[in-house]
Amino acid sequence: MCIFCKIIDKEIPSNIVYEDEDVICFNDIHPAAPVHVLIVPRKHYDDVMELTSSEDAGKVLHAVFCAVSKVAERTGTQDGFRIVNNCREKGGQSVMHVHFHLLGGTVFSEKII
Ligand code: 5GP
Ligand code: ZN
Repeated sequence: MCIFCKIIDKEIPSNIVYEDEDVICFNDIHPAAPVHVLIVPRKHYDDVMELTSSEDAGKVLHAVFCAVSKVAERTGTQDGFRIVNNCREKGGQSVMHVHFHLLGGTVFSEKII
């Protein structure tokens, strides 16, 4: 079982910011910003490339982006944040369970793109 599935099953503790039947959102163990929350669908997909059916993609993205606004409210980052997804090795993904990073609490002056 992957590390995020263990967090979902509460086998590994985490600092949960928001959860519902489809997603769990918890603080990253190595924060890259003052607010760094991982938004993780409960259903295991290795990465976004596995969201090949419109049904899977629709369900996951709907759940993730509904959670985004909840996490922003709860972390006081409604004034702005970044959402990041790293996909597979070349994209810098290190945990092979699809997830999105919400980064905030600072002003991002350097733009990636
Ligand atoms: P990725 O590199 O796959 O895009 O993001 C994985 C993230 O998971 C990293 O930012 C890393 O710090 C975080 N992470 C890895 N293991 C754990 C853990 O056991 N608990 C928490 N809260 N975060 C973790
Ligand atoms: Zn998993």
